[in-house]
Amino acid sequence: EQFTIIDMNRIAAESLQLFEAHSKKQNITLHLQLNHEPHCVKGDRTQLKQVFVNLIKNAFEASPANGEITVRLASSDQWIEVDVQDTGSGIPEHLFDHLGKSFFTTKVTGTGLGLMVTYTIVKHHKGIISVSSEENKGTTFHLRFPKAVAEK
Ligand code: ADP
Ligand code: MG
Repeated sequence: EQFTIIDMNRIAAESLQLFEAHSKKQNITLHLQLNHEPHCVKGDRTQLKQVFVNLIKNAFEASPANGEITVRLASSDQWIEVDVQDTGSGIPEHLFDHLGKSFFTTKVTGTGLGLMVTYTIVKHHKGIISVSSEENKGTTFHLRFPKAVAEK
C-alpha cells in the first residue's frame, strides 16, 4: 500500500464512471455533486476507490429501475465528507449494527464482505462511517476522512 495525497473528487468520478453502462441498462441515474475545490485526504488510492465501488455497487443492488444514486463531497475545517445516497429498498434499523461484520448479507448470492472491507479501509484511514436509512425510501452512507494538510 502507498499513502499519498489523494483528491477524492477524482476517485469519486472514476468510481462512478465504472458504473456508466450498468446505470443505462438499469435506468438508474448517477449524480456526482462536488464544489470546485479539491477534497484531499492522505490515503491509498486503490483502497479508497474500493470504498466508493463497494458502496455504489450496494446502492445499485438495492435500487429499483428509475432509481437515483448520488455521490456528494464536501469539506469542513478538518474533514472531507462523502455521502453515497440511493433511493433503494433501505435497511431496517435493527440491522445497522451488523453491517460491518464479515459474511453478513441479506442477498441470495451475497458474500457479506463488501461493507466489512469498506469499514476496515475507512478505519485504516482514520475515518468514520455511519448510515442513515428509511425502508422503501433509501439509504445514505456518510463517510468522513481527516483532511490532508499540505506538507512543507
Ligand atoms: P453483500 O453486498 O455481499 O450482501 P455487503 O457487505 O456489501 O455484502 O452488504 C451487507 C448487507 O448490507 C447487504 O446484504 C444488504 O442487506 C445491506 N446493504 C448494504 N448497502 C445497502 C444499501 N445501499 N441499501 C440496502 N441495503 C444495503
Ligand atoms: Mg456488497
